[in-house]
Amino acid sequence: MLRPRDTEDLREIVAAAVEKGTRLELRGGGTRAGFGAPRDVETLSLAALSGVIDYDPAELVLSLRPATPLAEVQALVASEGQMLAFEPWGDAASTIGGVVAAGVAGSRRITAGSARDHLLGFSAISGRGERFVAGAKVVKNVTGYDLPKLMAGSWGRLGAMTELTLKVLPAPREAVTMVADGLSAAAAHAAMAAALGSKAEVSAAAHLARGLTLLRVAGFAPSVAARCAALPGLLAKHCELRRVDDADSLWAEAMTAVGLKGAVRWQVHLPPRHAPELVESLASLEIDWAMDWGGARVWIALDNEGEDVRAQAARLGGEAMLVSAPAAMRARVPALPPRAAGLIALEQRVRRAFDPAGVFSTGRFKEDMDADQLSA
Ligand SMILES: Cc1cc2nc3c(=O)[nH]c(=O)nc-3n(C[C@H](O)[C@H](O)[C@H](O)COP(=O)(O)OP(=O)(O)OC[C@H]3O[C@@H](n4cnc5c(N)ncnc54)[C@H](O)[C@@H]3O)c2cc1C
Repeated sequence: MLRPRDTEDLREIVAAAVEKGTRLELRGGGTRAGFGAPRDVETLSLAALSGVIDYDPAELVLSLRPATPLAEVQALVASEGQMLAFEPWGDAASTIGGVVAAGVAGSRRITAGSARDHLLGFSAISGRGERFVAGAKVVKNVTGYDLPKLMAGSWGRLGAMTELTLKVLPAPREAVTMVADGLSAAAAHAAMAAALGSKAEVSAAAHLARGLTLLRVAGFAPSVAARCAALPGLLAKHCELRRVDDADSLWAEAMTAVGLKGAVRWQVHLPPRHAPELVESLASLEIDWAMDWGGARVWIALDNEGEDVRAQAARLGGEAMLVSAPAAMRARVPALPPRAAGLIALEQRVRRAFDPAGVFSTGRFKEDMDADQLSA
């Protein structure tokens, strides 16, 4: 494994790889190394690029190096009563660079957005072995292409981020979870839609297969108390609600699919109104599932390959990502959802602009390799 000491060392390693025609896989904590097709490439650990560069709580802006552990970042902002509003989660080794490159989002996405909406700027080494910067260290910035939107969710295919600037937000003083029991997927969807559209300002909504519907109300204590008091009346025709005091593990279940049964795991994004039909259409596959973001993200876990998941998601206007599976399946089934031909060509042009020699094309995304071969 290659372990650059600093940014200049990293740049030299990438430039040398361009010369030699080697391929490099960027690694933060490496907790998602099993995502995508199995591949045999040199790993480039960014572990030495760690630490906070600047944190200005008054300006709600945080700059840091990519391998800073996610847990450390969350503890730092919490100490100032603030939060990463896109609510990332991860394992103990997860880094902020890995989280942003994976373009993640938590249950609050429906109101707060994803990592992509909170990355203000970054510095990076491109696949050309050149340093570049994009965005800015301020919340208001309107010049140039919005490259942070491109970098968040690029899965290490465009460049190695060496510094990131994130927008942080004040953490709610209080967050209360209200739960409804025993609803079907369709009834839960109706209740979540009514709650999210109501004046109770619900900030997150999820439904678990075992019949638990979760609604989160957050903000200043008196406002939370008033909205929680109003919510049962607003949802009277859908369900009864009870308050749950320690709901972290329930939200973790909806956000991370922890505890779902099955070695194969899909993450489906689709219009929330179609989520009940999705789980119904897959019932014969004996799936376990959880709906997050009011149903716009559905986790599907099962013990067979469940390739019908992708077809059913597409039929309902959604797309399915293969999050984890045995290696043989990952070698055959692309991790990312299929793209239209025009989009594949556009993505390829973007990848080539940042990485003409394909230094960061590792084979993890079979679909990228197929596109590159077709146009070779
Ligand atoms: C399909 C999938 C969906 C997920 N969804 C969510 C979610 O919705 N919410 C959530 O909070 N968490 C989610 N996670 C978990 C999230 O991916 C991890 O918390 C995070 O990626 C782990 O950080 P890491 O440092 O271990 O990353 P690693 O496993 O080291 O890397 C992850 C990816 O980021 C790239 N990368 C790492 N560092 C850099 C860098 N400095 N510059 C450029 N690229 C870099 C790597 O090449 C790799 O492609 C998801 C994971 C997967 C596989």
